[in-house]
Amino acid sequence: MQNYNWRSAFFASLLGTDLEQHIGYFSHIISQWESNQNNKESTKWQKQLQQLPKVENVSLTIDSHIRLNTKQPLASAELQKTRAVLKNFMPWRKGPFEFFSIDIDTEWRSDWKWDRVLPHINDLSNKKVLDVGCGSGYHLFRMHGCGAKQVIGIDPTTLFFHQFHCFKQYMCDLNIHFLPVGIEHLPNTHYFDTVFSMGVFYHRADPIKFLKELKQQMAPNAQLVLETLVIDGDENTVLMPKDRYAQMRNVWYIPSVEALVIWMQRAGFSDIQCVDIDVTSIDEQRATQWMQNHSLVDFLDPNNSSLTIEGYPAPKRAVLIAS
Ligand code: SAH
Repeated sequence: MQNYNWRSAFFASLLGTDLEQHIGYFSHIISQWESNQNNKESTKWQKQLQQLPKVENVSLTIDSHIRLNTKQPLASAELQKTRAVLKNFMPWRKGPFEFFSIDIDTEWRSDWKWDRVLPHINDLSNKKVLDVGCGSGYHLFRMHGCGAKQVIGIDPTTLFFHQFHCFKQYMCDLNIHFLPVGIEHLPNTHYFDTVFSMGVFYHRADPIKFLKELKQQMAPNAQLVLETLVIDGDENTVLMPKDRYAQMRNVWYIPSVEALVIWMQRAGFSDIQCVDIDVTSIDEQRATQWMQNHSLVDFLDPNNSSLTIEGYPAPKRAVLIAS
């Protein structure tokens, strides 16, 4: 298990699929990623992954938590050591996870987002699924749990890639793979039946280009599931924060649903429907033992929780589906 080679496992999973033709290109972008890594940093993460317990007969349970289970519970000294190793992968933002009985209470209840999305989307059984900006990969496991036959997540944040592998290294045979790159580095595959992008759109400086990049990953008749921040207003309403939004530095555009629908149409999408709108609560995003920095409650105006501390409307999120 500790010798798990994620790269070969990923390539092996592409054999016999229409993605096989892109193996050379994937190999190239992974090598580029590796050479851009600070060597000390990646060696550090590799060492941490190897510090996790060597356990056989591991099983996975997928419900609100993603749980790794062993037949034989870990001894208390081993549990203590394991908890300390997992804490080295902080901040844990997207989850929740359970690692051999250790509850990783992440900043986000990502299961709540999944519960809002799932009732409205195409059945995932036997589907090929891409999650763009997958964070720790929590939703990749949920997609697998819904019967998807092939699940690929992409995310350029190295920490999240390694958080994912805390789990994946015990489950080598699962057809869930994480490529540590941004969407702009993918070839145009036109391959996936469902493309998810949740919580990423407002981080992209060029939203139309991003929508087109998503479209280029979709097979004919595929479904896009886009979850993003929105504001109230008509088709002419878009917020561009002057600087930070809810303390986030990299927020570019927050459109109204009506404006977003126009952008999606212009980018080539049809059958666009907004299926959910939800104001993010301080129970869904909060500081925990596993993410001890400031969280949503600190980013809202203390005297008026309908505003961020910068005076913008507080985070409200919409789920749109389209083909
Ligand atoms: N989808 C998860 C995580 C969202 S956090 C959820 O909804 O809970 C936003 C993620 O987008 C971050 O993990 C960040 O690393 C990723 N991201 C940023 N730029 C990206 C890009 N160009 N391509 C893909 N992912 C990107």
